[in-house]
Amino acid sequence: MMNLILMGPPGAGKGTQSKLLSERFLISQVSTGDILRANVKDKTPLGQEAREYMNRGALVPDKLVLEMVVERLSRGNCSNGFILDGFPRNVPQAEALDGMLKEGKKGIDAVIGIEVEKRELIRRLSGRRVCRTCAAAYHVMFNPPVNIDTCDKCGKELYQRDDDKEETVDARLKVYDSETVPVVEYYRSRGLYMAVNGIGSVDQITEAIVKAIGKGRGHT
Ligand code: AMP
Repeated sequence: MMNLILMGPPGAGKGTQSKLLSERFLISQVSTGDILRANVKDKTPLGQEAREYMNRGALVPDKLVLEMVVERLSRGNCSNGFILDGFPRNVPQAEALDGMLKEGKKGIDAVIGIEVEKRELIRRLSGRRVCRTCAAAYHVMFNPPVNIDTCDKCGKELYQRDDDKEETVDARLKVYDSETVPVVEYYRSRGLYMAVNGIGSVDQITEAIVKAIGKGRGHT
């Protein structure tokens, strides 16, 4: 049983790493961005409301995101633990998460922040391509799929996220600085936050995260 939070700016590699960690530790990956995108794709009421915020790089209102997270964490497959990817994104969400966990008599084992400098983030986001169906991520230069526009894993269509376009990337990085960096402080002051260098191969970064988790848990 292990409950983790993976933090980091857009493009740091949260999605890639949380998928790998969820397989390694047999815990559920809960990506609020992926859940929201699936809702937008399926044109659910939540998706229709969230879409406009996402397309301009703003945060979706807390009320919508929190309902979604409460529902997701209460599912049976989270009972072995979970890895949160892209949540909490602001201090009110972090406080709400504490409330939910308290109610379920659960806690957070570690909060890992993947750190990458801004120029590199922009390089990664501008070339990112994502599978519409399984959410696997590629990069046109650094991690290209075998056939451009097709997912290696499931054979479905790849696309560029609207919010990965240049105009929106800048807004997302600003939102990260103003709203999400205070969450880093929130967890650091509780002794839960550990930073990992996000530059290197996917495997190197996974190992650095696993090491950090071990250290964090060793202290509790
Ligand atoms: P991500 O895939 O994590 O980069 O999220 C993509 C977009 O979904 C963000 O730019 C937000 O518009 C929205 N989003 C994802 N997670 C959250 C969250 N925890 N709170 C508010 N909005 C979110």
